[in-house]
Amino acid sequence: MGEADSWELHEQDTLIAGAGLCDERAVRFLVQNAPESIRWLQSLGANFDSDGGDLELGREGGHSRNRIVHTADRTGWEVERVVVEQVRAHDRITVLERAFVTSLLVEDGQCVGAVAELDDYGQVAFFARATMLATGGCGKVYQHTTNPPVATADGIALASQAGAEIDNMEFMQFHPTTLFHPQMRSFLITEAVRGAGGTLRNHLGRRFMYDYDPRLELAPRDVVARAIEAEIKKHETWCVYLDMTHLEPARICHEFPTIRGRLAEIGIEVEKDWIPVVPAQHYSCGGVVTDLHGRTSIPGLYAAGEVASTGVHGANRLASNSLLEAMVFSLSAADAAADEGTPAQSATLPDPVHCIAESEVVRLRRSLQKVMMANVGIVRNFEGLREADKTVAELLHRYHGLPRAPYARYPLETRNMMLAAQHVVRGALRRDRNVGLHYNADLAEER
Ligand SMILES: Cc1cc2nc3c(=O)[nH]c(=O)nc-3n(C[C@H](O)[C@H](O)[C@H](O)COP(=O)(O)OP(=O)(O)OC[C@H]3O[C@@H](n4cnc5c(N)ncnc54)[C@H](O)[C@@H]3O)c2cc1C
Repeated sequence: MGEADSWELHEQDTLIAGAGLCDERAVRFLVQNAPESIRWLQSLGANFDSDGGDLELGREGGHSRNRIVHTADRTGWEVERVVVEQVRAHDRITVLERAFVTSLLVEDGQCVGAVAELDDYGQVAFFARATMLATGGCGKVYQHTTNPPVATADGIALASQAGAEIDNMEFMQFHPTTLFHPQMRSFLITEAVRGAGGTLRNHLGRRFMYDYDPRLELAPRDVVARAIEAEIKKHETWCVYLDMTHLEPARICHEFPTIRGRLAEIGIEVEKDWIPVVPAQHYSCGGVVTDLHGRTSIPGLYAAGEVASTGVHGANRLASNSLLEAMVFSLSAADAAADEGTPAQSATLPDPVHCIAESEVVRLRRSLQKVMMANVGIVRNFEGLREADKTVAELLHRYHGLPRAPYARYPLETRNMMLAAQHVVRGALRRDRNVGLHYNADLAEER
């Protein structure tokens, strides 16, 4: 969108971030269609920040130009606001809230709809000429994540059970500094705090980045995340600390009012206290494989958003390409879906998915999240990955060995998380070199 920018430069930055594993056709499709999808959002009423009629363009890590169209620090919220308003106002769209899709309907190799559990109605089958998965990420597979509670990998599990191709799940992006506090989980402490001079300390107060990288706290995101994880493992502590006590109080108030205010609510005064932080899962680069029009390997089934693997991100996502990818590819998927044939009117309903008691599943979910964080997180090794593979298989076995219980969402989400975790672990075991976000300490470094 910027005068000093071009799709070629955006393409180059995306390919560099993806470390050689991007699908170049998908990247070109993204960058060439980006301005049109942003203008489309504006035409619907999205209020992006502008200065004298020109869009204000921000810059984030890995971008060679200022190009991030944004609405203060809540761009995702603004995109969602405008789309939700349009959907609700449309007389041919029916929104069913509190509906949980439990399986896809596949007949003769073609997806013909989905089965959902609706509060108040129970199980309902929907037939459609096109079915789109837009179920978001899978952060809840990990003990620490910035993702919302609904990021339970449902789309990955639904597609995988139906036989769709899934790939690149081992490329999991971690954010180095999220708050570690029981009362406020997943609160992300922006990298700008370190940019402003914030330092990282272990529980003894030592500025441990001296032991890891000469760029200290300003080393790239993955280097800082690996250092924090190593420090936590070395000292067997819960977390490390971000120290901004030496920054000018006026500067803290001016540049970080939200962080200061939110932390004050839980008794952390950033002018006096260190902030407990841990790295947390942030974004899943892989997912259900799609073409440029959101089509998966199963005819009639589409995927868009974080659940999809369009090939844009390769081994690492360039900052802010995710919302853009969701927009560009879902618009193109909508065009393709409109050309699908007549919807099926019937199909063999699958057996109800095995659901167990909520009280039984809590421990299984925690065990899964713990082993994924410890063994399939930022730094991996073969022994840990094999152990995680065995643990996930055992957890699934235990799940299916427990007696059936009436439908509840939590157990089914947990089962979906286990199925998706298998893709992450096995993808990591198959990777024979370190690339992008995948780092296996047993492999010689090839970066
Ligand atoms: C803290 C944070 C900051 C981020 N910042 C940026 C940024 O600055 N720029 C950027 O580009 N990206 C950013 N991202 C990434 C981006 O926001 C996400 O990738 C994106 O919002 C995902 O959108 P989605 O539509 O795919 O999924 P979601 O918005 O998560 O929507 C998925 C929907 O599917 C529903 N669902 C799930 N399973 C089922 C089921 N079985 N049945 C029925 N419904 C189901 C969920 O309830 C939910 O409503 C950020 C992410 C986080 C967590």
